[in-house]
Amino acid sequence: MKTITRMLLRSLPSLLSCLTTLSIALAPVISLGAEDGEIPPPKDEPKVINPGPPPSDAIILFDGEDLSQWKCDKDGGPAKWEVKDGVARVNGTGGISTRQGFGDCQLHLEWASPAEVKGSGQGRGNSGVYMQGRYEVQVLDSYNNKTYFHGQAGAIYKQYAPLVNCCRPPGEWQTYDIIYHAPRFGSAGDLLKPATITVLQNGVLIQDNVEIKGSTGPKGKPKYEPHPLKQPIALQDHGNPVRYRNIWVREL
Ligand code: MG
Repeated sequence: MKTITRMLLRSLPSLLSCLTTLSIALAPVISLGAEDGEIPPPKDEPKVINPGPPPSDAIILFDGEDLSQWKCDKDGGPAKWEVKDGVARVNGTGGISTRQGFGDCQLHLEWASPAEVKGSGQGRGNSGVYMQGRYEVQVLDSYNNKTYFHGQAGAIYKQYAPLVNCCRPPGEWQTYDIIYHAPRFGSAGDLLKPATITVLQNGVLIQDNVEIKGSTGPKGKPKYEPHPLKQPIALQDHGNPVRYRNIWVREL
């Protein structure tokens, strides 16, 4: 009996230390349930990724090497835009679309309007980023170049003007970071939920979670035509040699 008591006494300090450690470790867990209405942590830990750029979970659409992720809209064959020095340039061969389809996504791309200024209004440095091949975020040289406000750079074409004009001068690289949620359609083709879009240009918020009203186009009231959830992202050839680089997308 004496031996057992001696052993217990000897191990008491380490036992106490263990209990202290345990209580410290459990303290946040215990306290979480303690207050009414406090939100417990989600079951799953956020996935660990390398932020890059590009982020390690991004799909690279153009890294400066080639346009193998893209096809030519005219004939469905390989994209024919010029690729040189890490840059893809619009060259009059028509728009290009990703081979892969995307629904809800985060899209990053960089663009530059021509350094040599030619034309005016919609004819100066015009291109565009079409989410799901239908909903255009306008690309335009809007640096000292007047046009209708919902047609300038960063506009959801003919639906929403950008909140501010933060365009850099012609020839300089600019970024678009787009958070896009695709529209949802019922089985009868009825619109359940419109698309929403947030756009940052050069790090500045220019579209704040606006509801897209339908396909963008030059004329008439925008309207939705039902389409599958995953659709290509397209870049417009508007006849101006706009350049693109560093294009990546993350599926949401
Ligand atoms: Mg355009």
